Amino acid sequence: MLAMPLTRPTSEFAAVQPLCPHCGRPMSLNRTEPRPGGLPDLCVFKCGECAVWLSESAAERRAV
Ligand SMILES: [Zn+2]
Repeated sequence: MLAMPLTRPTSEFAAVQPLCPHCGRPMSLNRTEPRPGGLPDLCVFKCGECAVWLSESAAERRAV
């Protein structure tokens, strides 16, 4: 019997945190935006220090 998790662990997001291009601090995941057409969710990160926003595809991050 296999228990398949329906939600991904939050640690996955922590592992792919980008660094702020402005101050170099790790950015925090603000939200994910679902996209139509079967595209992977868009992850929106924010730097709390300089209010810089960054959006990246979840699939692109995962492929690294
Ligand atoms: Zn910053």
